[in-house]
Amino acid sequence: MLQQTRVAAVIPYYERFLEAFPTVQDLARSTSDRVLANWAGLGYYSRARNLQKAAQEIVARHAGEFPCGYDAALALPGIGRYTAAAVLSIAYDAPYAVLDGNVARVIARIGASRGDLRAPARWRRLEQAAQQLLPRKSSGDWNQAMMELGATVCTPKSPRCGECPVEKWCRARALGLEGKLPSARLKRATVDITLAAAVLLDPRGRTLLVRHANGDGALFSRMWQFPAIEINGTESRAALAGHLRDKFGLVAEEKFSPLVAARHTVTFRKIRLESYLVRVPRLPRATGARIVSLSQIRGLAVSNATQKIADAAIGHEIE
Ligand code: SF4
Repeated sequence: MLQQTRVAAVIPYYERFLEAFPTVQDLARSTSDRVLANWAGLGYYSRARNLQKAAQEIVARHAGEFPCGYDAALALPGIGRYTAAAVLSIAYDAPYAVLDGNVARVIARIGASRGDLRAPARWRRLEQAAQQLLPRKSSGDWNQAMMELGATVCTPKSPRCGECPVEKWCRARALGLEGKLPSARLKRATVDITLAAAVLLDPRGRTLLVRHANGDGALFSRMWQFPAIEINGTESRAALAGHLRDKFGLVAEEKFSPLVAARHTVTFRKIRLESYLVRVPRLPRATGARIVSLSQIRGLAVSNATQKIADAAIGHEIE
């Protein structure tokens, strides 16, 4: 949960998730819909899917215990070198050094290393350095201390070198470069995307949600969402009307009422969702779609943007 997400934002989700799935067996045998519904709002939903797949493998192949070998841990879905090292060192005191952004910054400053830390060759050298520094015992404590040092003392801006326990070994400090290292990270340019979404509404207050398979080009893959289409410079209402006609055989353009424009960011993509309420006498049937009442959406696996549009549609109905 903490990948790309702040601790404060994660805590309520973490507590709710553990209440819903108190054991690895509970998580393994749940429906993926229920897992995603308990993750809804946290974003990066592949993490939830991988977590459940990993739980299923842990139950099926490792008798319900996280494996203690490095290769077996790495073979689990969603577990990379960082997570494997963190879990194995903290849970089993196994000798694997973690390297996250905080630890990398500490090590780079101690060695006065220049350049972009995330460049693959430099990251590998930092991993080797972290492994060399690791003491023989209490590797979990060491790893947590290194992460904490980076998070609380050797912070990205204005490191508190006067309070730092490794100040006398730090080359960046000796050279007066602690505020300049590591070099700023090269950022991937963001891409702006506009989607037009339709809240189809029948006389009974029900709507249609669709779900795209992984890799289907969908922005919220495998999450329930309103029918939507990416628009490139065209007018959103016309593009959406064309999409509804092609996909569901619906001719309903004159019934469009504009709702909110929701914003959503997924990694480097900034998405603007222009949504419309579209009243229809009957909802179309479509493979992979489901029909729910608007008020039921809150309990489903949906993104924040979809929830925001649903709330706007409910507000529009009340007015
Ligand atoms: S002395 Fe300063 S720059 Fe060096 S590791 Fe400590 S906090 Fe970071």
